[in-house]
Amino acid sequence: MTNKDNNSIYFWQESVWAQLTGAWEQQRMPHGLLLAGPAGLGKPRFARRLAGFVMCRDDGPAHRPCGQCKNCSMMAAGSHPDFRWLSVPEDRKTIGIDQAREVVNWMRLTSFMAGYKVVVIDDADLVTREAANSLLKTLEEPAGASLLMLISKRPHGLLATIRSRCQLVRFNRPDNKAALRWLKTQDRSADWPRLLFLAGGTPLRALAMQQDGFADTDLRFSEDLSAIIGGSKDPVAVSIEWAKEPQSVWLEWLQTVVLGLIRARAAGSVKIEECEPVHLIQGAVNINLGRLYRYLDDLVAARQRSERGALRADLMTAAMLIPWACGLKYRSIYQED
Ligand SMILES: [Zn+2]
Repeated sequence: MTNKDNNSIYFWQESVWAQLTGAWEQQRMPHGLLLAGPAGLGKPRFARRLAGFVMCRDDGPAHRPCGQCKNCSMMAAGSHPDFRWLSVPEDRKTIGIDQAREVVNWMRLTSFMAGYKVVVIDDADLVTREAANSLLKTLEEPAGASLLMLISKRPHGLLATIRSRCQLVRFNRPDNKAALRWLKTQDRSADWPRLLFLAGGTPLRALAMQQDGFADTDLRFSEDLSAIIGGSKDPVAVSIEWAKEPQSVWLEWLQTVVLGLIRARAAGSVKIEECEPVHLIQGAVNINLGRLYRYLDDLVAARQRSERGALRADLMTAAMLIPWACGLKYRSIYQED
C-alpha cells in the first residue's frame, strides 16, 4: 500500500474500514457518518473509498470497489450522478445555505443508477448554522438509500443536533513505530522521527512537510531559538526573518516545541526521544514549567488573533520571540493579571 496508489486505504484505517464495510454487509450502515480526527490521517481519501465501496456492483465485498464496473468508472472519472462532494469554495470561508439547499434537493431525487446516493461534506465544522439546519432534515428523514459522510477535524464545532444524528467514526494516529516504518517506505533518507514529531504524529502531514522542505525551516527555527536563548542573536532581528514565513507556520512550530518542552518536564526520568525540542533547542531545558504554560496560553491567543488577522506580522513575531531572551520571564501582552 503506497502513497502512489490513490485508491487504497492507509494501514491505520484498516480497522475502521473493516468495521464500516462489515456494518454495510449486515445492512446496518447508518445514514450519517461523522469521520472525525486530526488532519493528516487521510479522512477525505477514506470517504471517497467508502463511497466507491457503496456504489460498486461487484458481488464480492472484499473486491469492492472493483475499479471495473460502470459505477467504479464513473466514480474514478468524477462523474457519478449519485455522488456529491461538498467543500468550502475557494473564495469563501464557510459552506453556505445555497450549497446545502442544492444538495438537499438533489438528495430528494431518485437515484440515477438505482443504488445509493452519497454525499461527502469536507470540513463539515465550517458549515454555517443555517446550512446545517437545512441538512438536518436529510439526516432526520433520509430519502431512499442514502449516505451522508461528514469529515471534521473539530467535531465539537458542529451543531449538536447534527452530531447526535451521525455515527461517530474516530480516526486515530497510528502507533509511532508503525508510522515511521510506513514513512520510510515513502523516502528512506528523510529525518522521519523529527518530522513525525512536528506533525503531531500524523503520517500524511509529516509526508507533506518533507515534500515542502520543512526540515530546513525546522533546522533554521531551532538554531535561531537556541541562539536567542543563549543570547547570541537579537530576537528582534530574528523576528524580521521569521515574519517572512506565513504566521501559521512559525506559530504552529512554536506551539509544538513548547508542548514538547512541557511534556519532557512531565516525563521526569522517562527517556524523551532525541527528536524532541528538549534535545534540539539549547538552553530550553532550564526554562521554568509555569512560564512555559503561561507562554503556551499566549501562543494559543496569538494563533487565534492571527486567524482573525488582528496584528501586524512583524509585531506579533517579535512579541512571541523576545520572551525567549529572558527565559520566558515576561509580562504577557494577552493576559490580564
Ligand atoms: Zn465496481
